Amino acid sequence: MLRIHSLLFCLILFAPVSRAAEPAKTGDLKWKAGLAKSVITPKQPIWMAGYGSRTEPAEGALHDLYIRVLVLEDAHGQRGVILSSDTLGIPKSIYDDVAKQVEQQFQLKRSQILLHGSHTHCGPVLRGALYDAYPLTDSEIEKINTYSDWLTEEVVATIGRALQDLKPATVSYGIGTSDFGVNRRTNREPDVPILREQNLLMGPVDHTVPVLAVRNNDGKLMAAVFAYACHNTVLSFQKWCGDYSGFAQYDLESKHPGAMALFCMGCGADQNPIPRRSVELAETYGKKLSASVDEVLSKPMKPLSASLNMKHEFVSLTMQPLPKTEELEKMAAGAIGYSQRWANRMLKMIQSNTEIAREYPYPVSTWNLGSDLVWVALGGEVVVDYSLRLKAEHGEATMITAYANDVMAYIPSRRVLMEGGYEGQSSMMIYGLPTERWAEDVEERIAKAVGQLIESVRKGNQ
Ligand SMILES: [Zn+2]
Repeated sequence: MLRIHSLLFCLILFAPVSRAAEPAKTGDLKWKAGLAKSVITPKQPIWMAGYGSRTEPAEGALHDLYIRVLVLEDAHGQRGVILSSDTLGIPKSIYDDVAKQVEQQFQLKRSQILLHGSHTHCGPVLRGALYDAYPLTDSEIEKINTYSDWLTEEVVATIGRALQDLKPATVSYGIGTSDFGVNRRTNREPDVPILREQNLLMGPVDHTVPVLAVRNNDGKLMAAVFAYACHNTVLSFQKWCGDYSGFAQYDLESKHPGAMALFCMGCGADQNPIPRRSVELAETYGKKLSASVDEVLSKPMKPLSASLNMKHEFVSLTMQPLPKTEELEKMAAGAIGYSQRWANRMLKMIQSNTEIAREYPYPVSTWNLGSDLVWVALGGEVVVDYSLRLKAEHGEATMITAYANDVMAYIPSRRVLMEGGYEGQSSMMIYGLPTERWAEDVEERIAKAVGQLIESVRKGNQ
């Protein structure tokens, strides 16, 4: 019901205007846009991210992995940098290093950078991210660190190239839909095909495909930023691959030669592409998503005036205390796996009197483009409830992306936290934080911070 209502709202808000084609008048070209991309496919067979069940490193590539950077500059010279990456997520260690270097080299603040990971499970493990999930040896960790240092340099260098590439542009916004994402908490994977056929799929979903189009003075597409709220987990094999979003980017770039397609994951932490597990399906979903983006691009879109206001905040999220020592000892003595590795690490911290953090600095950024669009970028694996709630609170012209500027854990809503399960509880151990659960006010703290930041960037654009 909520979904139908939301869709109607966006159809009304973004109803076609009288123009049949995208504006290409020089007077509208007050934005500037710069683009650059780099191949980041590991040259060595290092460990692959996302699944703890893998027993060996990658064996070659199905297709190349990329980082893609779009820089937007408004009429007052304010710059914002969007990075889309075919990675599981940019961890805090890399985010902090990039933030420091781009401030030194390009005078960019944290509020001006959105570093996204597509959450492909066929990308490399990155420094410090989810080590308890994998059976890593010291030499594997060394390879991960070497690759992560190289990736950090590539990200900074690619941002530098995009900053050198600024050209006059228009920016516009529209919303499409695609329906392959399924709520994985409320639908058993084997039942999905029949449930779909009978229209009986359950649970909240967000099937919208927000699209930001950047065009040059001939109206030619320079870049399309697009989002979708669904895990990038069609594939689980041993080859580097961008999964469905990788295929979507390849497809869009082949249909629009010279343009760049940047996928930014939405709040898809509790959504899966189902059925899955074949290259054919990954390609099919990628092409579906690409077709949805293309449909939005082919219709009149909402032009955004050239003003950019950006805010960033680390919201302090509380972690619930660790389980009792006896419970940790039981887990540490259990079968080899992530909970055993995590419990052992926690016990070592307790025994060595290491200070155990109770709060986590959670990154939230909001950008206001023109007076219309608000873009909210959230860290972590965010469940779909946030997307639905924030759009209901702040309007359909709110683009919500997640997996941005640090992926430290799942971010359950209060509902999912209370229900428990993987996204509400057990995934915390896989990420390695010193807790089994966020505090019960996790959703309220994030929603409150988002509300305050949105109010602040909207004021800045008045
Ligand atoms: Zn995930």
